[in-house]
Formats: sequence, structure tokens, C-alpha cells
Amino acid sequence: MSAETPAKKELAAIKGTKDILPGEVEVWQAVEAETRRLVELYGYRELRTPIIEPTELFEKGTGETSDIVTKEMYTFTDKGGRSITLRPEYTPSMARAILEHRLDLLPEPMRYYYIGPMFRYDKPQKGRYRQFHQLDIEVFNEKDPAIDAEIIEMADALLRTLGVEGTETLVNSVGCRACRPAYSRDLRSHAEKVRDRLCPDCRRKIATNPLRIFDCKVEGCREQAALFPKITATLCQECREHFARVCSYLDLYKVAYRVEPNLVRGLDYYTKTTFEIISGGLGAQNALLGGGRYDDMMKDFGGPDICGIGFAMGVERLISVLQIRPERKTVLYIAHMGDAGKRKGLELARFFRRNGVESLVEFGSKGFKAQFGRANKLGAAWVLVIGEDEIRKGLYQLKDMAAGTQTEGTPEDLLKIIQDKKI
Ligand code: AMP
Repeated sequence: MSAETPAKKELAAIKGTKDILPGEVEVWQAVEAETRRLVELYGYRELRTPIIEPTELFEKGTGETSDIVTKEMYTFTDKGGRSITLRPEYTPSMARAILEHRLDLLPEPMRYYYIGPMFRYDKPQKGRYRQFHQLDIEVFNEKDPAIDAEIIEMADALLRTLGVEGTETLVNSVGCRACRPAYSRDLRSHAEKVRDRLCPDCRRKIATNPLRIFDCKVEGCREQAALFPKITATLCQECREHFARVCSYLDLYKVAYRVEPNLVRGLDYYTKTTFEIISGGLGAQNALLGGGRYDDMMKDFGGPDICGIGFAMGVERLISVLQIRPERKTVLYIAHMGDAGKRKGLELARFFRRNGVESLVEFGSKGFKAQFGRANKLGAAWVLVIGEDEIRKGLYQLKDMAAGTQTEGTPEDLLKIIQDKKI
């Protein structure tokens, strides 16, 4: 089909979504496997929830003044008349599942992770998609600032194991319900004085959530925000001590970080610690991951008074700064001649696969030369040759494509050769 055919246009993927094709998917698989391995070393267990949730969950959890809820949700009414939303982030789903199944009553530590798609109706651009993937990490019921530091250290360790370089870790405290209201009032009166110099969005934020003016990327707003009072100066004693201990544990872990008093993050629920890891290689959307504490969410959901902390990392952004490019090549290509050769090939493919060797049999009838050509194209490490002679003797030829050598043997002998070389 040519590129101009209307059918092709109609059937294109939705704007802001992407196919992950073979060739690229191997990188995803490697990242996912390494991530699972590492987070499980810290005691995290996977918790999977549905992609669709009641809209109210995010209104309550993510917060009614957040950009996500006000502008970016994929919401629809289902046939039963319920308002449903494709999850834009994972934390509220995790909190809901915990309450629904009362995981808080189990004896094990409440450490959970998940890797999967999220949906936000935002303007697509580099590093910002409408369907994207996050690694989500959450810990519940742990007040100790040591966990704040451990989570940041784990994020840092994950990026190091994956070979990501040139990142910067930013940390801040956004206070709690005891100290933040006074700060918000102070900020509101400062912002009010420079209202004319703020963008329309920030003018709205003065009334709804003035802290989020710090999130604005408009230059004029940034200039004004830089002159606003800093939250770190107005934290209550508990928040101040908590933050000091987070920093001291980070020092203990030797994690390099910078205290960034303007780091407030785009979600409404954060309390105390917030953090972000940014990468110079990402362009305008420079946050690889972001997170923080949310000590009031469970309570606000009508559940027990259990605190929480976590982060979400964007997998697309992570992969865009990775150097690894694992390749997947055919291991064993089975070339054959005649009907009996084909039947023997199918049988032997089953034998090799059962013994853990990825094998491919040519289905059509081609000459050996063409079959070797194809094996070469596929980058096959080995070619097994089955002709009339081989079938009669029960001994087959195995060619090592890199070395150019050929060995004769029974399927068991040849399997051993392949296994010993561990390709
Ligand atoms: P957030 O849930 O907004 O705190 O985002 C956490 C991380 O998810 C960000 O640091 C990004 O890496 C990633 N992320 C958020 N929104 C998008 C998006 N629209 N497209 C791609 N990645 C995103």
C-alpha cells in the first residue's frame, strides 16, 4: 500500500500514541527486567490495577485544581452511565487497591511497584505523549525520613545500573497541612501584587493553588516566582526536622542532590518531601522522574491514617537517554531439502526449542543457497542442515556462522555444542 492511500491514513495510530516495534521492544524488555530485579532487591512487590477507574478517584486523589484533572483526563461515560477515566497517573489507583483489599492489615511492608501505560490529553511533543508508560513506586505506612532518602537512592541506583549519566537530583519540602496554609497566604499576597506580570494560567493559580506558579515555564512568571518567599524558610518544626534528616540520609548514601526551594511538582497531594531527577539530554521536558510524600491521601479517601511516599518515572523519557541497544538475532536456523527434510526440520525445531534454543524453520521450499542467504540476513548464529543423507544417517550438519566451521552429529551432540557456546 502506498503512503498516500486513504486507508492507511485512517488507520494510523492516535496522535500522541506510539507503537513499540520489534527492534525497539528489546530495549523496553531489558529496562523492565532490570527495573524489576532492582526494585525487588529493595523489597517491592508488583501490584497491578485496571487501566480504567471511576473518574472520582482522580478528582479526589490527584486533586481538583491539578492540570491533570482540570485539562488532561481521558474521561467518558460508559453504557451504564458511569463516568470512567483512563488512569492519568498511578498513585490514586494504588491507594484505592490497598484500601479495597485492606493490604494495610497484612504484616509485610507496604512497598509496591508497577510498570504500565498512563493517559493524559496534553499537547504531544518530544517527551510528552498521550499514552506513555511509567514505572511507579509507592511505600505506605512509613513515616521515617529514612524511606524518603532510600527511595531517592533507589531511583538513583536504577539510573546508574541502566547507565544513565548527566542527571541531577533536586529535593525540596512543600510542608504539611499545619505550615503550608500560612505560606500559601503569604505567596498569594506576593503574587497578587505582580498579577499583571503573570500569564493567565498563573493568575488563576493565585486563587486556586499559588504554589503551582513555581511550575510555570513562562519566562515572565519564572522571573516573578524567583522573587517569591521560599517555602523552606516557613516550614514548621516537624517538617524542617524531617527534611534535615532526609538530607542527612542522602549524604550517608552519598547521593548527589541539590535543594531546590521552587520544586513544588504538579500534583496537589504532596506533603513534606518532593523530588525530581532531571536529565540534560531530554530538552524542554527534562524530568525523568518525580515524586514525593503524600501523608494525607489515604485519610482523604476515608481510609486509615496511613502516610505514603513514591515516585513515577517516564519510561519513554528514560529510554530516550539510554545508550543500550540490545539486538535480538535468530539463534538457530534450520535449512532443509524435500518433504522428508521439512518434516524432520519441524521435528528438530521442537527438540531444540524444548531445550531452550530459539529455532526457526523455513516453511517454503527454497534451495540451500537461498536458505543460507536468509539465515545470514537474520543474523543466525547457527544453521542446521537437513538433506537426504542426513536423514538416512540420523546425523546432521551444524554450521557455526561466525566461525564458518561445520560439525556433524546427532541432535543431542549438536545441542551440546550450541549450549556450550551460550549464544
Ligand atoms: P508526573 O506523574 O507528572 O509526576 O510525571 C512523572 C514522570 O512521568 C515524568 O517525570 C515524566 O518522565 C513522565 N511523564 C509525565 N507525563 C508524561 C507524558 N505526557 N509523556 C511522557 N512522559 C510523561
